[in-house]
Amino acid sequence: MSAGHTCGMRKLFGMAAGALGGAFLLLCVCVGSLGDGLLHVYYLDIGQGDSILVRTPLSHYVLIDGGPDDKVLQEMAAVMPFYERTIDLVILSHPHADHVDGLIPVLERYNVKAVMLTGISYNYAGYERFLYLIKERGVSVLFVNGKVDYRLGNIVLDIVFPLESLQGAHFENVNNSSISFRLMFGGSIFYFSGDLEVEGEAKILAAGVDLRADVLKAGHHGSRTSNSKALLDLMKPQWAVISCGVDNKFKHPHPETIEHFQERGIEFYRTDLDGRVEFETDGMDLAKVIHF
Ligand SMILES: [Zn+2]
Repeated sequence: MSAGHTCGMRKLFGMAAGALGGAFLLLCVCVGSLGDGLLHVYYLDIGQGDSILVRTPLSHYVLIDGGPDDKVLQEMAAVMPFYERTIDLVILSHPHADHVDGLIPVLERYNVKAVMLTGISYNYAGYERFLYLIKERGVSVLFVNGKVDYRLGNIVLDIVFPLESLQGAHFENVNNSSISFRLMFGGSIFYFSGDLEVEGEAKILAAGVDLRADVLKAGHHGSRTSNSKALLDLMKPQWAVISCGVDNKFKHPHPETIEHFQERGIEFYRTDLDGRVEFETDGMDLAKVIHF
């Protein structure tokens, strides 16, 4: 046993052999606490923005975006045990304020083990603060590209977009740099795509990758500039969750998106109307959790 494999250490990073047709990065090989064997996905109620907290069956935590402010801290406190101060992986889909700003208090208050991002170049103070904190705290950085997938315990992150490294790239529309991936546990699949718009979706469709998923996090807060019919028809989700704020100035979600969901029998929930939305699965049966 190497010095790194002590009982108190929960995370180790290392390369593992190829899977899913490409390189495969093993995120965790050592587990210090037992989970309930279920995958929990919480679409947090953080106003106009995105923030999704995932608790894996082995009790690892993944936070996808942080919403626009520190409301994310209350939401995390509501679903995590008070003693849990570690987030194993933070994923920044893209560096717009409604995704990155809430990650700043998270980095300040939690022990974040690793951050996954594209590393695009974008001039915004919140993004710069986020990058500064990562460096200052010595957080491991994973620059994503579609050629490498990740495993975290018994969870697979199947990276769908970007198809290649975007490190240092400039985007006229930063939404179209959004990391898109399928989070898979057994036969249950959740799809996340930040604010990727139809131009980005078209690249994914052209790549011909497997898009099947059970639960779709609606792209770009339910805007009609995302969630193309072609994408929905390939993905065939049973559920969709729209993350948006009450009476938001963008008027998200767009009625056309709702119509496209309804035409396909996709059951959808909205954080502005339903509050926090939770799913849980044992890898076979997937259910939306309803709290009474
Ligand atoms: Zn957004």
